[in-house]
Amino acid sequence: MWVINIQHWLDETKTAAAVPQLRLKVKKLAEIITYATSVAAGMTIDSIPKCWRRPKRKPCKGILGIHLDENTNQIHWYCNICGDEGVVTGWEGLIWNMLDRPVEDH
Ligand SMILES: [Zn+2]
Repeated sequence: MWVINIQHWLDETKTAAAVPQLRLKVKKLAEIITYATSVAAGMTIDSIPKCWRRPKRKPCKGILGIHLDENTNQIHWYCNICGDEGVVTGWEGLIWNMLDRPVEDH
């Protein structure tokens, strides 16, 4: 399982990937963060982020199951098709955080 502190993947603007190789991954993580925090904020989101893995070079058609754990501030994702799974942290101060309240430190 991936455990990613997205801060480590961002440049100094905190809005873009630090290196070009991370651009796609940062974009997907941004989608996951936006989705998870929007749901937590009570907003309705029509588009659930899709899986971005390419098992056997074919794009996975999975829809990600995404959950924000408000106790740990970890956002967990899981693909029920290919089993890709991960946790992202470090998103609290980023523009993709849709929660208008600061997330409490428990
Ligand atoms: Zn998948």
